[in-house]
Amino acid sequence: MADPKGFLTTPKQLAERRPVADRVRDWNEVYVERSLLPIISKQAGRCMDCGIPFCHNGCPLGNLIPEWNDLAWRDDWKGASERLHATNNFPEFTGRLCPAPCESACVLGINQDPVTIKNVEVTIIDKAWDNGGVTPQAPDRLSGKTVAVIGSGPSGLAAAQQLTRAGHTVVVYERADRVGGLLRYGIPEFKMEKRHVNRRVEQMRAEGTRFRTGVEVGVDITGRQLRERFDAVVIAAGATTARDLNVPGRELHGIHQAMEYLPLANKVQEGDYVDSPISAAGKHVVVIGGGDTGADCVGTAHRQGAASVTQLEIMPRPGDDRPTGQPWPTMPMVFKVTSAHEEGGERIYSVNTTHFSGSAPEEGQAVGNVQQLHLVEVVFTEGRFEPVPGTERAIPAQLVTLAMGFTGTDVKNGLVEQLGVDLDARGNVARDSRFATNVDGVYVAGDAGRGQSLIVWAIAEGRSAAKAVDSYLSGRASTLPSPIRPTDRPLTV
Ligand SMILES: Cc1cc2nc3c(=O)[nH]c(=O)nc-3n(C[C@H](O)[C@H](O)[C@H](O)COP(=O)(O)OP(=O)(O)OC[C@H]3O[C@@H](n4cnc5c(N)ncnc54)[C@H](O)[C@@H]3O)c2cc1C
Ligand code: SF4
Repeated sequence: MADPKGFLTTPKQLAERRPVADRVRDWNEVYVERSLLPIISKQAGRCMDCGIPFCHNGCPLGNLIPEWNDLAWRDDWKGASERLHATNNFPEFTGRLCPAPCESACVLGINQDPVTIKNVEVTIIDKAWDNGGVTPQAPDRLSGKTVAVIGSGPSGLAAAQQLTRAGHTVVVYERADRVGGLLRYGIPEFKMEKRHVNRRVEQMRAEGTRFRTGVEVGVDITGRQLRERFDAVVIAAGATTARDLNVPGRELHGIHQAMEYLPLANKVQEGDYVDSPISAAGKHVVVIGGGDTGADCVGTAHRQGAASVTQLEIMPRPGDDRPTGQPWPTMPMVFKVTSAHEEGGERIYSVNTTHFSGSAPEEGQAVGNVQQLHLVEVVFTEGRFEPVPGTERAIPAQLVTLAMGFTGTDVKNGLVEQLGVDLDARGNVARDSRFATNVDGVYVAGDAGRGQSLIVWAIAEGRSAAKAVDSYLSGRASTLPSPIRPTDRPLTV
């Protein structure tokens, strides 16, 4: 056990963020460079090494949290990294980006602040990289079997790494020009610098995984060709079909899906553009949708020099404390202040957009530019949102981003038909309890099967699907670990 009295004597201390005035002037991560090992060790020492560690249960990966808390407290960072990697291929992603259901489930959280599990995790892995402790683990022998993985997000990368290490020859097909899925094009640089993705991909290449970027399966290579060339296929193509807002004025210039806006900002950081073709510079920006994708638009707009940023949410403002209906150890809906919200802007709750209005079209334009967003306050009654009469108003809006959630996988481009896989009622690829689709040898992992979710679930699904594929290819029970089943869901009430 870590410090037996740590939870009594050490108060919770979070990783420090850089001053707002500094960080909105660049795209680097918002955290202060981690030179605070003694503080993190003390924080790890708050862990009680519970008889029943609910943090395990909260984490889809089943991370061995009390074990690495203990090792971090003892300054055994190498041992801590080994325990961390026993359940998680990419702790540097989850340590930066996960909403940490483990912390919501931590036993200490019943009557005081939970252990800062995520901060400990990211410190362990960053130190391992710095010390040269993360090295390629190439397989001892090859199986002679081949696997195609479609998509290089966290689920595809996790599946590919597990299968490569098991001795199979794995090719990852990615339609984008770079590897990483939403880690690369979606999640902003200030939440995770892309150098973390790059060095993992280098590790995977050194282990033997092959990457083919700029290849869209279903268009550049058919599903049938994949089936002929490979012994098994894993669909890890994500779920980024975005929900739209069909109100009058939607066709005006300046109204974009979040996933049109955010990847362009990522591409500026990659050096593809000097300025983003869709920039918030000098504009009144409105982000529709109060979730994490919306927050990423807010932080991006701040850095591009927006004149103002307003985020709209149809739901009422969540409370500051756990609602009684969402008790420990569930992950509660509480009011969150992300780093982007700390940086400014306004949040308006319980409002709906009625329409947009804009300028007259300029010469050569079919439609004008958006100038105002018209909204109305709403109340939720009898299962629907009803407008409150007399609350209609307009706010300035020269750039609008839609971040209203996703409606399923976006591989309806021929891939689904060519492979012959069934979709479920929610528009995702249907699978059984072993991540297998209805087609022999074709498996699915991550958002493509689960629907838009979290990185931690994507990694857990990639690892579990890899186990099923390994069993399929070898004809015997795989020794790869399997953290979850497809039906596992977050701890909710
Ligand atoms: C803006 C945004 C911010 C987010 N922030 C967070 C966060 O902070 N923390 C968190 O936990 N989760 C976050 N999420 C959710 C998280 O990113 C996803 O749940 C996760 O990336 C899913 O991983 P995946 O591998 O299943 O799919 P993806 O990451 O979506 O990767 C799928 C890949 O498949 C490729 N592909 C699709 N079709 C084809 C094809 N036919 N041929 C070849 N390639 C194809 C796509 O180009 C893509 O690269 C965020 C999501 C969004 C949209
Ligand atoms: S639940 Fe919290 S205190 Fe208990 S073992 Fe897990 S991290 Fe430590």
